[in-house]
Amino acid sequence: MGKHFDTFREKVGVVFDLNAASAVLDWDQQTYMPHGGAQGRAMQTSTLRRLAHEHFVSPEFEQALGAAADEVAKLDPDSDEVRIVRHVRREFDKATRVPSDWVGEFSRVTALAQQSWEAAKAQSQFSLFEPDLTRVVQMRREFADFFAPYDHVYDPLIDDFEPGMKTTEVQAVFAQLRPAQVALVREITERGRPVDDSVLRLQYDERKQWAFGEQVVRSFGYDFNRGRQDKSAHPFTTSFGQNDVRITTRLVPDYLPTAMCGTMHEAGHAMYEQGLSPTLDRTPTANGASLGMHESQSRMWENLVGRGRPFWQAFYPDLQQLFPEQLGKVDLETFYRAINKVEPSLIRTEADEATYNLHVMLRFELEVALMQGSLPVHDLPAAWNQKYQDYLGITPPDDARGVLQDIHWSFGGLGYFPTYTLGNLIASQLWEKIRQDLPDLDRSIAAKDFQPLLGWLRTHIHQHGAKFEPMELLERITGQRLTAEPYLAYLRTKFGEIYAL
Ligand code: ZN
Repeated sequence: MGKHFDTFREKVGVVFDLNAASAVLDWDQQTYMPHGGAQGRAMQTSTLRRLAHEHFVSPEFEQALGAAADEVAKLDPDSDEVRIVRHVRREFDKATRVPSDWVGEFSRVTALAQQSWEAAKAQSQFSLFEPDLTRVVQMRREFADFFAPYDHVYDPLIDDFEPGMKTTEVQAVFAQLRPAQVALVREITERGRPVDDSVLRLQYDERKQWAFGEQVVRSFGYDFNRGRQDKSAHPFTTSFGQNDVRITTRLVPDYLPTAMCGTMHEAGHAMYEQGLSPTLDRTPTANGASLGMHESQSRMWENLVGRGRPFWQAFYPDLQQLFPEQLGKVDLETFYRAINKVEPSLIRTEADEATYNLHVMLRFELEVALMQGSLPVHDLPAAWNQKYQDYLGITPPDDARGVLQDIHWSFGGLGYFPTYTLGNLIASQLWEKIRQDLPDLDRSIAAKDFQPLLGWLRTHIHQHGAKFEPMELLERITGQRLTAEPYLAYLRTKFGEIYAL
């Protein structure tokens, strides 16, 4: 490429390296760092992040970006060069619109909010968190105003996680999804055909759980030469470049799905990052298209593959062999039903496939109301409990198991929640297209051959990284923007059969 683009890429590479280095420190902090290291680590991470930011928003960077943009202007609009420049330009404009004073104040406010949230959750007392949350909401409104004019005050928030997505589009899709999903869950509950999942709640040796998870994701195609798995309190995936993409998991001795499904989930994220085109390396475009697109990959492997019948036809004998005492006399069908049990519950992270989105949609509705000012923070717990009653037919006994359960609002992550449900919807929409393109998909999964599926994902999604906005990518692949129909059809078919609806 030309010399301006090369200069620009080198500058982008420096920012990438600094961010990757601080990601290594984050990974270490959550896996191996001794407790005493926390304060020093906070300094180191913050120094690296600050250096990265200073490089990024500098006048020299802006000049290099402008020169590169001129140089690539006549290239193919879908080329890496044009897309990298466009992507960096977008991030640069966003980063420079937000004053650094505000950024400093926001990190101070959210640090305090995380402390008060932890205390409030431990004592199940929302009032301890209320003043800080009020400040967080107020600051998120200020943030939105840096991007005025907007159609909706929530647009600039969701745009951080789901580039190009508009609040009204999410609202329209959720309006279609919610009543159908509420009705389905009600039908399942009222059907009176409860599934027994006690077999999952026996004692399972942790080392064997670990071994099984690794066997499964290795066969999926997660590359351990360019990745590794470790333990952490909250499972996550982190990337330091496409040749070092790590996952973590959490082992629970008396609940089998936590580690098993968690490992599949994180491997889904990690295979996305491992599958990026090498030509995007050391740029911010070497990343998923959005959180929703990323989540579509993790949920596809965890749920559409990993909770499906063909998968268990292949792997259940292996699992039985590992745990003959627990599973030797349990047939495949009983096990399949157990890991697909539907039951309205209070905690989002433990929710099943059929109820999960209801947890997410109600949080989205509450966030929008908070941002619009139609819901005062003080009234949040009551509004929360009302929605749980309306959508899931249950009421939290206390705020710890209700409005205080998630960390997201304490770090200011309003706009994040909807991406979880977008991930489910995108996964199903892609899955329909995959089934058309790969008519033998079930048979290959049942033969432990995941190459056709992974190959499809690499070609259509992974290699592109963040070259395209998520809805643009989805539309290029499926011919449609986001829709709830494929997901609803999937739920109806799957749970209709399990619960004989
Ligand atoms: Zn995820």
